[in-house]
Amino acid sequence: MATVQTVRGPIDTSEMGPTLMHEHVFVLTPEVQSNLPEPWDPDAHVADAVAKLRQLVATGIRTIVDPTVIGLGRDIATVKKINEQVDLNIIVATGIYTYETPPNYFRYRFPPEGGNDPMTDLFVHDITEGIVDTGVKAAFLKCAIDEPGMTAGVERVLRAVAATHRITGAPITVHTHPGTHRGTEVARVFADEGINPGSVVLGHSGDSVDADHLQELADLGFVLGMDRFGIGDETVEAARVNVVIEMCKRGYSSSMVLSHDTSCVLDWLDESARTFVLPKWTYTHIHEEVLPALSAGGVTDDQIDDMLVKNPRRYFEATAR
Ligand SMILES: [Zn+2]
Repeated sequence: MATVQTVRGPIDTSEMGPTLMHEHVFVLTPEVQSNLPEPWDPDAHVADAVAKLRQLVATGIRTIVDPTVIGLGRDIATVKKINEQVDLNIIVATGIYTYETPPNYFRYRFPPEGGNDPMTDLFVHDITEGIVDTGVKAAFLKCAIDEPGMTAGVERVLRAVAATHRITGAPITVHTHPGTHRGTEVARVFADEGINPGSVVLGHSGDSVDADHLQELADLGFVLGMDRFGIGDETVEAARVNVVIEMCKRGYSSSMVLSHDTSCVLDWLDESARTFVLPKWTYTHIHEEVLPALSAGGVTDDQIDDMLVKNPRRYFEATAR
């Protein structure tokens, strides 16, 4: 028996059920929001989030894995309020989301001689003690690398995350940019840190149509996040579906997880523009359109079960303690 922490407390991993491995509730820029003429009002957004997440639950999804961390406006107190009104397991993260440098707060807070990076101390606290005063414990780690590559700041965050993994066992999700093969750079640093790739989701792998590259990463043992369904036009969407079909044909259903990377609010975009440009970027798109398309392409129910149920569970069980 293994347990995993959720917003509502620990659950047995057998209770995770069908799981979307990369969904946000809110993605916000808090310092901007709190200085706008009409500042962000969390209460006004709770009812909308409850309605959207109830629609998700109606598809049969039991668990979402939410990688919203520092840099993306993490607000666990509000997520907790929402979760009180929706019967869904929400697994939350700790970590830092940056493509270049950590937040200035950490700039001159260097690791003491022989000691942990202060970022690691914060991450460990979030996992073992809980996030601020919410009583909610993070169950996994999030970091990022994008087109700028392995900058000094990105590498510092990746190594602080790796150190936290060694201390706590919490698995890791990395935002990657597969078009520039950033997963390969993650593999280099994590190999140096002694991290088992089976505990690492390479997020946004499904942005790539290069099945040979994805196969290389899967052969190293990494979990591939096919996690942006609904972002893009019909051509992009067909490519996302086809690469999953191709990887299943090659025998890699045990190496992939599915998700949308969507959110109730993402303040990087104007809401009405987002709805207009990306109408299918919702929590229910996978069940409404992607799973039928995968089945039509020859993906079996067992392979879908691997991607939605077995692989998420194994990822959280691998290092559960
Ligand atoms: Zn995301």
